[in-house]
Amino acid sequence: MGKGKLVVLTGPSGVGKGTLLRALRRRHSDLKLSISVTTRSPRSGEVDGQHYYFLTRTTFMDMVDEGDLLEWAEFAGNLYGTPRRPVEDAIAKGETIILEIELEGARQIRKSFPSALRIFVLPPSLDALEHRLRQRGSESDEAIARRMARARTEIQASDEFDMTVVNDDLNVALEQIEDSLYATLTC
Ligand code: 5GP
Repeated sequence: MGKGKLVVLTGPSGVGKGTLLRALRRRHSDLKLSISVTTRSPRSGEVDGQHYYFLTRTTFMDMVDEGDLLEWAEFAGNLYGTPRRPVEDAIAKGETIILEIELEGARQIRKSFPSALRIFVLPPSLDALEHRLRQRGSESDEAIARRMARARTEIQASDEFDMTVVNDDLNVALEQIEDSLYATLTC
């Protein structure tokens, strides 16, 4: 059995991390995805236990107090966190597990799991990112403005990561992630 590996995928909200991950999973069904907990309300089509575990703030903070989260952060007024157990179990079994998380969480992982491969996904431009957020149609103008402000901060920190990938052409971005993933897995 190979050595378990933790992969962190970060990038501004709306950059297409979810699409990249779904495409990656279709090509590599052995990759595990961590399912986060959040206090955000489900968007239309989102399923509890599949996209996220949707929790109240009280339950979320109970998990924090119990040490059940590997990392957690506040993002655009909501709390998001990675349940510790599934990640530790996957690594113990020699599996590769991917976290799709924002910058503060990625920084926490850097401290607790220095060997994690950390990838930052960039949009082709800020205008393209705002366009994608608006196309999603699920957020108010105010929420989009908050996500864009956070995007600018996150992009400035992209050089903290092991690699950056521009998500312009999905297939090109996917190949770059695959190359880096399998270079790491084989060393
Ligand atoms: P969204 O509300 O668009 O689903 O997610 C907002 C942001 O929270 C995204 O950048 C997403 O990557 C991030 N996020 C999702 N799950 C987690 C998590 O478990 N921990 C952290 N730190 N960020 C997360």
